[in-house]
Amino acid sequence: MRTTVLGYPRIGPNRELKRALESYWDGRITRDELDQVGAGLREETWRRLAELGLDALPSNTFSLYDQVLDTAVMLGAVPERYREAEDPYFAMARGTQGLAPLRMTKWFDTNYHYLVPEISPSTVFRLDASKPVGEVRQARALGFDTRPVMLGPVTFVLLAGALERLDEVLGCYEELLSALAAEGVSWVQLDEPALVCDRTKEELEAVRAAYERLCARPSRPSLLVAAYFGDLGEALPVLAGTPVEGIGVDLVRGSLPIELPGRTVFAGVVSGRDVWRTREAEALAALRAVRAGEVVVSTSCSLQHVPYSLAVEERLEPALRERLAFAEEKVAEVVALARLFAEGATPAPTSAAAPAGAERAEPSARSPYEVRAKVQAEHLGLPKLPITTIGSFPQTAQLRAARADRSLPRASYEALVEGEIERAIRVQERLGLDVLVHGEPERNDMVQYFAEHLDGFAVTEHGWVQSYGSRCTRPPLLHGDVGRPAPITVRWARYAQSLTAKPVKGMLTGPVTIVAWSFVRDDLPLREVTFQVADAIAREVRDLESEGISVIQVDEPALRELLPLRASAQPSYLQWAVAAYRRATSVAADRTQIHTHLCYSDAEQIISAIDALDADVTTIESARSGAPAPEGFPRGLGPGVYDIHSPRVPSEEEVESLLKAALDVLPAERLWVNPDCGLKTRTYEQVEASLANVVRATLRVREAL
Ligand code: GLN
Ligand code: ZN
Repeated sequence: MRTTVLGYPRIGPNRELKRALESYWDGRITRDELDQVGAGLREETWRRLAELGLDALPSNTFSLYDQVLDTAVMLGAVPERYREAEDPYFAMARGTQGLAPLRMTKWFDTNYHYLVPEISPSTVFRLDASKPVGEVRQARALGFDTRPVMLGPVTFVLLAGALERLDEVLGCYEELLSALAAEGVSWVQLDEPALVCDRTKEELEAVRAAYERLCARPSRPSLLVAAYFGDLGEALPVLAGTPVEGIGVDLVRGSLPIELPGRTVFAGVVSGRDVWRTREAEALAALRAVRAGEVVVSTSCSLQHVPYSLAVEERLEPALRERLAFAEEKVAEVVALARLFAEGATPAPTSAAAPAGAERAEPSARSPYEVRAKVQAEHLGLPKLPITTIGSFPQTAQLRAARADRSLPRASYEALVEGEIERAIRVQERLGLDVLVHGEPERNDMVQYFAEHLDGFAVTEHGWVQSYGSRCTRPPLLHGDVGRPAPITVRWARYAQSLTAKPVKGMLTGPVTIVAWSFVRDDLPLREVTFQVADAIAREVRDLESEGISVIQVDEPALRELLPLRASAQPSYLQWAVAAYRRATSVAADRTQIHTHLCYSDAEQIISAIDALDADVTTIESARSGAPAPEGFPRGLGPGVYDIHSPRVPSEEEVESLLKAALDVLPAERLWVNPDCGLKTRTYEQVEASLANVVRATLRVREAL
C-alpha cells in the first residue's frame, strides 16, 4: 500500500445522484432504482480510482445524503418520531409533511453541511452494519479490496453533544470491527476531524480511552484514524499513545512534529480543500520529513469538497487550467508523488509564494457612528422603526430561464430585468416600506454574479461540489489579481432609484463572503486576496454614492464561516476580516448609510467584531433562531421579524410582539424592521402578504411609541 485518498465526491460526475434523488422524492422512481444509481456511481468511482493507479481504495465514502446521517443510522440513533415515516432516512434528512428534519450545520470550516445527530436519553444504540458491509461486498464482487471509511466514535458523539454516551457508541464500533474483520477487511478508516479543534483534557482522555478499547478488540482490521482540516496539536501524542496502526494527518494545514516508529502515516500532502495543483517539491519535502514505519501518500481530507474532473471543462484559459487540479487530477498527483518519493527524486522547486504586499493603511474618511447617525437622520428623514428588506425579491422561472438562455439578445434580457425591478419597487411603494431594494433580479447568486464581473475570477461549467444532500454549488475560481474593470451594479441601482422618491439601497456582497464562497488562489495570503476584493467593492460603493444612492448594503453572511477552528487563531482572522470590510465601506461619506446583513444571530463570539464592522445598520436572522435581539447593540439593528425560510405568512400580532420584545432591549431610534433574509426563494404572493402584516404591525407599534 502506497497511495490512497481519504474520500471522493459522490454526487456523480454529471450530478447523477442529484437527479435520482429528486426523482425519488417526486415519486418518479422507486427506492430500488435510486439505490441502483448509487451502486453505479460507486462502481464507477472504484474503477476510475484503480485506473488512475491508486492502490488502496476507500469504500463507504458514498452517501445518499450525508455521511454523518449514515453514521447515526448505522448506530441506531434514529429518533422515535421518524421511525414510522415511509422512509426514515430521508425523513431525518428533509422532514415530511408533519415532521421537521434534523438540524443541519456546517461541517467544520468547509461549505459542506451535515445533519446533526440527535441523541436523547431514550436513544438505544444498536449496530446496523449493512451499509459499510454492503459496500465492501459490492467492491469485492468487482475485484476490489477496500478500506471502509466512517465517522469515528469520538467525533460522532462530540457532534451530537453527547460525550457521556461514548461508551455505548464504542460497543457498536467494537461489533462493527468484528463484522468487517469477518468480511476479510484489513484496514478501516475512522474519521476524527473533531481532533483538530480545541479539546478539553476530559475529551482528550476520552480519545485515549476510546482507541485503547477499540484496539483491544480481538481479531479486528488495522485502524487508520484520520484527522483533517488542521493540526492535531495535543491530540497527536494522545493518539500516538494508543496502539492504532495508522494515523492520517493533514500536512497541508497541519504538521507531524513527532516520530511514529512502527506506525503507518497517511500523509495528506495533496489538498482536498482547494482546486490548485500540488507544489511537488513542497509535498515531497513534507513526505520525506515524516518519520514513521511506513508512509502512504494521501489527500489532506476527502476529495468530496472539490469537483470531479478538469477534463470536461472546455472554456478555461490554458494558463489557468495548468494551475488546476480537481478530484481526478489530485488522485493522479497522489500517484505521481508516491512514485517520485519512492525513487528519491528531487524536482526543482516551483516558484515560491509571492511575498505578501505591505498592509495598506485603512482609509478612514468617515466620522464616528454617533456623528454620522445625525447626518444620516437629517439626510434620509426616515420614520422611527424604518421598514426594509434584505435585498432579493422572488425570482420567477421566466427570469431564471432567460438568464440561462445564451441565445436571448442582451437587450431583451435587460428589459426583462428592468421589468422585474419595476415590479419590486411598485410592490414596496404600495405596501409602504421605507427603504426600498431593487430586488436583485439580475443575479444568479450573490457571489457568482460579482465573480462574473470582476477581473481575477473564472467560472467553471461543471465544477459542482456538494453543499448538502442534493444541493450543489459551483464556486468561482479566484485565480488572479482582482480588479473591477467597470461598474457592476450601478445601472440597476440608478434605474430603481429613478422609479421612486424613497431611498433605494445599493446592494453589494462583502469581500469576506466573496472569498469564502470561492476557490481562492493559494500563492498569496488569504488576507491579501480579500483586501483586493475589498478595494474592488470600495470602487463600487463610491460609484453608487456618486449616482445618488444614499443607503448601501454590503452583505457579509459568511463572516463567521471562515472563522478558524482553533480559538487561538480567531482574533487575528477577525481582525483582518473586519479590516477588509471597513476597507470596502469606509470610503463612503458620512451621510451615506452603510448596512450589513449576516445570516445568523447567535453571534456572541463575534458580536464585538460585528460592532467593529462599523456599519450603521446591521440586519440579522433572529426570528428563525428564536434568539432575542442582542441587548444594547450600539448601532442600528434589524433583528428580523419573520423567518423567510418557510412559506408561512406571519401574523400581524406575531410581528408586533417581536417588535415589542426588541424595544425592551434597544431604543426605538436604533431599531429597524425587516424579514430575516432575502426573499428570493419565496413567491410574490407570500411576500406581499407577509410584508403587509409587517407594515401594519410596525404602524401600530410606532403609534404607541
Ligand atoms: N442580499 C442578499 C439577498 O437578499 C442576501 C442573501 C444572504 O444573506 N445570503 O438575497
Ligand atoms: Zn441572510
